[in-house]
Amino acid sequence: MAEVRNKQVLLNDYVRGFPKESDMAITSSTLKLKLPEGSKGVVLKNLYLSCDPYMRGRMTNHERESYVDSFKPGSPITGYGVCKVLESGDPNLKEGDLVWGMTGWEEYTVLNTTQGLFKIQHTTDIPLSYYTGILGMPGMTAYVGLYELCSPKKGEYVYVSAASGAVGQLVGQFAKLLGCYVVGSAGTKEKVDLLKNKFGFDEAFNYKEEADWDAALKRYFPQGIDIYFENVGGKMLDAVLLNLRVHARIAACGMISQYNLEHPEGVHNLTQLISKRANIVGFVVGEYYHLYQTFLDLVVPGIKEGKIVYVEDVAEGLDSAPRALVGLFSGRNVGKQVVLVSHD
Ligand code: NAP
Repeated sequence: MAEVRNKQVLLNDYVRGFPKESDMAITSSTLKLKLPEGSKGVVLKNLYLSCDPYMRGRMTNHERESYVDSFKPGSPITGYGVCKVLESGDPNLKEGDLVWGMTGWEEYTVLNTTQGLFKIQHTTDIPLSYYTGILGMPGMTAYVGLYELCSPKKGEYVYVSAASGAVGQLVGQFAKLLGCYVVGSAGTKEKVDLLKNKFGFDEAFNYKEEADWDAALKRYFPQGIDIYFENVGGKMLDAVLLNLRVHARIAACGMISQYNLEHPEGVHNLTQLISKRANIVGFVVGEYYHLYQTFLDLVVPGIKEGKIVYVEDVAEGLDSAPRALVGLFSGRNVGKQVVLVSHD
């Protein structure tokens, strides 16, 4: 098979502080679209790539143990994507199949294993890009954090931070479907409007316009918070701790406000966990993929019946990928940030 041009996004060097577009470079190399003899892997054409906050951690040279490996400077970035199989050494996958999972930030990727790839049972009424978001890793994250770790009950008071993003928008909708009272926070008026008018949150506020987050939470939750879905960390977590109800649960999903800091902020109000007999639990979605089919059985009918909606922010072309990725850390994305590499 002929060689093809393969456009790629490389990490130039390890990053300190906020990531910049110039921390990445677009280059082209050539690639033979052929598996080595006897390989059990796949040749993939990348259709959509996912921009996710955890990727910031992979741009750091980890001196301490981390749950994610660092990227290799000078090599293509890797991340979740939706891909078409061009050749397969795995009998469970054939040419033309669609998969989602870890791939390269490039046009074509050769993997030497298919482990960690999920075959997509594609139906035309669901956008393929959803497998980077609501039907992929972020969707599973919302499901695990809320259903598995917080056991929500009808009538409970739920707060979601970074609520309009890939994970948060689904957490709020799940909680509403379960009969909870749901408030979300986000960083612009446009996002706050989405929370209230598109995703059906009971209330929403722009945290950037609130001088005192403790006071804001007291306003929206005069009775206190039963469940906090934690996406941002730092001072927001401190404010939430002051507003917990007895037996509150916190799903520590992410702490994006801390990812670019050289010295993470301290959290001061942890004694509240004792007086409120509250539970805070951290999790990594990768440990829960055995629940993926259960999750699909819940969410796919919800999408098809129009009970669950999803907003994406699609950047066109690999060239736009560095800007899209760094935009997560200033809140430029409205909804799930996706990069469209190729339509088919
Ligand atoms: P996202 O919400 O789609 O995008 C990130 C958003 O975070 C931005 O749009 C911005 O929205 C907000 N943000 C950025 N900097 C902030 C700051 N300093 N303070 C407050 N908000 C800030 O991202 P996502 O994919 O849904 O991820 C949400 C969280 O879940 C992240 O912390 C991520 O690391 C975590 N996560 C964890 C797992 C897991 O397995 N534990 C899996 C997936 C994601 P605003 O305009 O609202 O500020």
